[in-house]
Amino acid sequence: MPGNRWTKSQIESLVGQIVHLSKPLPEIDIPGKTRAAINNQRKRLQRAGVLNGSFAGRAVKPWTFPELKRLTAFTQDYGFSASFIAQMGLLPGRTKDSIGKMMGRHGLGNPTIKERARHAQRFDARRREEFQRFLLAEGRLLPSMLVSRQWGLAQKTVTAYRRRLGIRLSWREARSSDEFRRQQRKRSAAFVAHTRERWRRWREGKKLLWGKLRQELVQRPDCPPARVCQACGEQWYAAREFFHVRTRRSPAGVKIGYCRTCRLCRAELRRRSAAASCAMAARG
Ligand SMILES: [Zn+2]
Repeated sequence: MPGNRWTKSQIESLVGQIVHLSKPLPEIDIPGKTRAAINNQRKRLQRAGVLNGSFAGRAVKPWTFPELKRLTAFTQDYGFSASFIAQMGLLPGRTKDSIGKMMGRHGLGNPTIKERARHAQRFDARRREEFQRFLLAEGRLLPSMLVSRQWGLAQKTVTAYRRRLGIRLSWREARSSDEFRRQQRKRSAAFVAHTRERWRRWREGKKLLWGKLRQELVQRPDCPPARVCQACGEQWYAAREFFHVRTRRSPAGVKIGYCRTCRLCRAELRRRSAAASCAMAARG
């Protein structure tokens, strides 16, 4: 409804979604307001200083080299699409649009999908009828993704046709399709890649910190005795920062001592065994 005044609660909701939830434009939802109206109101609020700098307008954050490297891996090694990368938060702070543009600039992405998008066109009346007949007959149970590929349409368009014809695939039908399973595998691969990446960054940061700590300790008169990790072979120090303290109870009393593996290796081992038991639970 263009021209409708914004109510107080609508504005409050908009501010909340921008400031507290840091939502990008496509994700902001105000019932009864179009995306253009939301965008305009957002600009007005920004100029009025209501948004506390949460939304800076068209501030361009340059892409870093590591980001581009990861984008290349996500698209070429995993075959992820821009919307998928954005949805999974694989490149924090990058929207679907900016990821898509970057992919375009560097020739990344799936060539068939790009080709299809380029040739996407509206059907003429005859072709439309033909398509509807197909959907009602042999294409009835075909996953929308496959239909879209076969007919050179966007998947959204296929779904819209199905809805209008009243033959939407049931949840069960869609789920049982190979396409659904393929998407699910893709999703879990992304999740694994994401966690692995976060884990790697955490570990690198920790190791850097420990290196500094080691240099500081060595110069101190009260430097604790050196202690070598049994797993990675690095020489750290017998201190809580590097080694987990274990308490063992025995009939002879309580024994307190440092673990044989450093905290980094201990965390790694625990993570691996958790992943292994997860996989076992999934299989069994
Ligand atoms: Zn270690």
